[in-house]
Amino acid sequence: MPESAAFRDDRAHVFHSWSAQRALAPAVVAGGEGAWFWDEAGRRYLDFSSQLVNLNLGHQHPTVVRAIQEQAATLCTVAPTFANPARSEAARLIAEIAPGDLRHVFFTNGGTEANEHAVRMARHTTGRHKILAAYRSYHGATTGSITLTGDPRRWPNEPAMPGVVRFFGPYAYRSAFHASSEEQEGERALAHLEEVFTLEGAHTIAAVILEPVVGTNGILVPPDGYLRGVRELCDRHGVLLIADEVMSGFGRCGEWFAVDRWGVVPDLITFAKGVNSGYVPLGGVVLGPRVYETFAQAPYPGGLTYSGHPLACAAAVAAITVMRDEQVNATVRRLGEEVVRPRLAKLQERHPSVGEVRGLGLFWAIELVRDRDTREMLVPYNASGAAAAPMAEVAAACKERGLWPFTHFNRVHVVPPCVTSAEDLALGLDILDDALDAADRYYTG
Ligand code: PLP
Repeated sequence: MPESAAFRDDRAHVFHSWSAQRALAPAVVAGGEGAWFWDEAGRRYLDFSSQLVNLNLGHQHPTVVRAIQEQAATLCTVAPTFANPARSEAARLIAEIAPGDLRHVFFTNGGTEANEHAVRMARHTTGRHKILAAYRSYHGATTGSITLTGDPRRWPNEPAMPGVVRFFGPYAYRSAFHASSEEQEGERALAHLEEVFTLEGAHTIAAVILEPVVGTNGILVPPDGYLRGVRELCDRHGVLLIADEVMSGFGRCGEWFAVDRWGVVPDLITFAKGVNSGYVPLGGVVLGPRVYETFAQAPYPGGLTYSGHPLACAAAVAAITVMRDEQVNATVRRLGEEVVRPRLAKLQERHPSVGEVRGLGLFWAIELVRDRDTREMLVPYNASGAAAAPMAEVAAACKERGLWPFTHFNRVHVVPPCVTSAEDLALGLDILDDALDAADRYYTG
């Protein structure tokens, strides 16, 4: 097929995220419906990445599309100083589904801004400056959030925001604590965090920020008791807990928020992505009373021209209403346990390169290794170019078969839209089964 104008103009004028520009050849996406999208040549892909793990309701959900159209016909934009029905209703719905006493919403344009503002709120509320953030985390790409980020995307962007201190969260398969069980991993990770509090001076710590279920850095589901332990530790020292639910929230874990699974109430929740499936950019911070009261009389020193944009908020109202009416969370939990978990266990039996599978809801990781005993990663941490070739082969094998995968380092993540049918899930997992032969060829164990 000859190069289209869309492709030519992209290559001539679009500067892409995170990439060396010259060699890029992006697929030109022409359309999508539900869990599928297609390119301009009509090649269809089953989306096991939900784009960037934001497309929880799939492409072109008619209710969400209609809500945006109706809002566009009524009022496209309004300054944040005014009240507006779409924004008011979105805030009310989010407050209704938020855990505990979190009742107010500050809207942003996406996840990274949400985390910037959560940190700012925590520092003003406590009068302290340090923020504890985990290795193996992603919190966004603006100056503060990239400093919070515990993965290689931070390295070329340092030094950035002062006052960030790093800790290890639980990751039993590659334990930093030499733990031999999930339970021990959780206990030792908590003891480690407590020691970091002591060594840093707990009175200097404003907040702990964490992804309740770590997303891009490996779908790390915390052992039962870990998040509750972090909450208690924070309470003992007057430290705020910020849950970054940008990826884990709004159905991904089969809950409104991942923390709901463990009954933990953070002081601040940051969200984006699934709140409206990214149809119009939206993120935000949900505030508990301690933070809200700080700014009940004193002005909050922050704002955004598009805070609570009506098109984005109308999309959120529709998305949350659909999720509620169609009981999407219950469906996600069922699909995760009845379809994905058993099928991934089978993949692990069949493919020597599958070291571990883990996850919940529609939020899963397949960790690929060269040797199950040593757990040597299929490709090294942060591999690129030739070193990353085995993973590139797995991804290519998926795409050839019509599956769009999400890969990161030595892992394939299974993160399809929450509305994917059981049949399509089975189809995608069949394709993955075939594609993993490419990883087995590198197995040396
Ligand atoms: N936090 C988490 C956990 C994320 O996964 C992401 C994006 O992937 C972000 C924050 C940043 O969100 P955004 O890209 O909307 O700024």
